[in-house]
Amino acid sequence: MIDYITEKVKDTPRYFRFGGIDVVQGDDLPDNVNMDAVFRTIEAALPPHFLRKLKGVKIKHLDFFNDRNASAFYKDGILHITSDQDSNNDLINDICHELGHHVEELYPSEIYEDTEVAEEFLRKRKQLKSEIQSEGYWVSEYNFQELAYNDKFDNFLYKRLGKTMLRMVTAGIFIRPYASVSLREYFATGFEAYYCGNKESLHKVSPILYKKIDTLHNLV
Ligand SMILES: [Zn+2]
Repeated sequence: MIDYITEKVKDTPRYFRFGGIDVVQGDDLPDNVNMDAVFRTIEAALPPHFLRKLKGVKIKHLDFFNDRNASAFYKDGILHITSDQDSNNDLINDICHELGHHVEELYPSEIYEDTEVAEEFLRKRKQLKSEIQSEGYWVSEYNFQELAYNDKFDNFLYKRLGKTMLRMVTAGIFIRPYASVSLREYFATGFEAYYCGNKESLHKVSPILYKKIDTLHNLV
């Protein structure tokens, strides 16, 4: 006899609403990931004004994630997150990070107009450059003072230096290696740290960014 209750209908997305957040789940998540707990944690951590204009969260694994070695991206008010998650925390971190990009779009002038965060980022890039040079790498063809994401620079960090060396040269300078990739990622990784488990380290490592997120938190 067919068990109609547990039978799964493939490729049929399921729709949920957690508090103010619309979620479309296109793929199954592992059994140890509890979406209700994940979204309750997110909603408890973030002030409601950060969820303004958020169109929704889509949980589905896309080929794009394999191609880019990524687990999530933000576009036009929607968080796209892979279903390939190890734990609740894993999913919480991805959602937090992409919400950081959403908050950037909500408050661009509050975040960047005074240029303090950008200056902090560029000071760190300078430190990073000298760390890399002292490891014996030739760096003159890369622009460490560029704020935007740059493919060539990204390849240098992730392919030429590689993950282990990158972790070493960014330690104590950036909250995590990915924060060094661009100003936008500097903000989003900081946001992720502030709201999802690494607040004290962010305060130590990036005090200006920390203060900025604090200010945004208290906006009404
Ligand atoms: Zn990002």
